[in-house]
Amino acid sequence: MYLCPQPKNIELKKGMLYFPVKSMPEIVKKITPELSQKESYRINIDENGVLIEGADDTGIYYGELTLKQLMLNYRGCLPYMYLYDEPEFLYRGFMIDSCRHFFTVDEIKKMIDGAAYFKLNKFHFHLSDDQGFRIEIKSYPKLTTVGSVRPSSNFGRGENDNNPYGGYYTKEELKEIVAYCKERHIEVIPEFDFPGHTTAVLAAYPELSCTGEEIQPKTTAGIFKDILCAGNPESLKLVFAVLDELCEIFTGEYIHIGGDEAPKTRWCECDKCKEKLNELGLVNMDQLQGYLANEAAAYLKKKGKKAICWNEAIKGGNVEKDNITVALWRDKTKASIEWANGGNPLIAECFTPYYVDYPYGMHPLKSVYMFEPRKLRGLTSLGGAAVIGVESPIWTEYVTSFEKMTYLCFPRWLAVAETGWNNVNKKGYAKFIKTAEFFCDILKGMGITPAPKEDWDILPQSRLKETVGFFSNTLSKSAVKQFFGKADK
Ligand SMILES: [Zn+2]
Repeated sequence: MYLCPQPKNIELKKGMLYFPVKSMPEIVKKITPELSQKESYRINIDENGVLIEGADDTGIYYGELTLKQLMLNYRGCLPYMYLYDEPEFLYRGFMIDSCRHFFTVDEIKKMIDGAAYFKLNKFHFHLSDDQGFRIEIKSYPKLTTVGSVRPSSNFGRGENDNNPYGGYYTKEELKEIVAYCKERHIEVIPEFDFPGHTTAVLAAYPELSCTGEEIQPKTTAGIFKDILCAGNPESLKLVFAVLDELCEIFTGEYIHIGGDEAPKTRWCECDKCKEKLNELGLVNMDQLQGYLANEAAAYLKKKGKKAICWNEAIKGGNVEKDNITVALWRDKTKASIEWANGGNPLIAECFTPYYVDYPYGMHPLKSVYMFEPRKLRGLTSLGGAAVIGVESPIWTEYVTSFEKMTYLCFPRWLAVAETGWNNVNKKGYAKFIKTAEFFCDILKGMGITPAPKEDWDILPQSRLKETVGFFSNTLSKSAVKQFFGKADK
């Protein structure tokens, strides 16, 4: 029987429930207080039909999803059974970057369908970056009129293509995506990434950079020196205005405030930033970034929301712990491990093996499946317990089409879903491979083209070739240099 993620417990019983092929059996659904674990459910199939009981609406929805998957395994009948299921993690995330390359609402919905099918429940939407700002913000209209269009693109080793490239989502479109996700019990978490990765913001409002010089949205991949000036009070004013409008559109618990890859070169040369540092009595520029994160998190708290930030944002050690969750992607300082060991919430979004924009040769399906989020190096048992879940991002510098995105994400996101649901209580990789093959056929019917099986776990010598090829043919020299050095910035 193929099910993904694997339910916690299935007891098959003697007998079969028959019903007309291509129709549904009788289903009774109810919420029951006997189930205490959030999102848990149970299914009883016997001569009376199908009974789905959930701890909550989401539990019932997951029961229905499992029933749909069960029905793919049989035709016109289901075996009598008792099934109980609950997730290990309440945070089971996937991230899509629509900044480097823009994806339409319909394409985003297809990705959501694919993720929802495997009970992933957090859609982190990366909507602002150096190469384009993608959210309509009424109070700062130039964020999209200027910041959403770059003059050309050059993400590989080729020439600038001289084609202006742009796109953004209107508020109505974003609300449509939120509603679409809500039907699938998925929370959409928008990201406004600052103070780094803000070239598109500064293109629109150059007075908010430390130098005030005119710049354009970036046309290449990388980490850039011009970041939001921390010493200019107008910067936080823009941050709060953007957060206000995000809170109107996105109805969930979290807002992502970015914080990754923010070089402090400009801040160190800027009188306003240095003055702010002194005024606040901070000891270094990493703490100044921590101050910005604190201001944003406190602002969100007043609105009843929690903040998520990338691990670099806590490097200064001064981030308030009460309203921030840290997403760990790559951290040589171990600040995020200490954060979790102190009992503070952490999302495991580790570069290896969860960054699925990198080729299968680098992050094979098996390594994604085997990843153990509570066993990161340095985590204590308290730290392990503070891991609230997993997330796998698809960054899109080198993802130029929807087909390439689906190839890279599927079936690796099935393995992420399996870990998010079962953690270490998985049923083994051999079984997972068969299950993934089964569901890849189903995904094709949903308009999603997964990677073919021969690419999932290629032989070690081919893996090396694919990895070297990716770095030497796809990434520009400066991007390779930054890749190997960026964790220290
Ligand atoms: Zn400054």
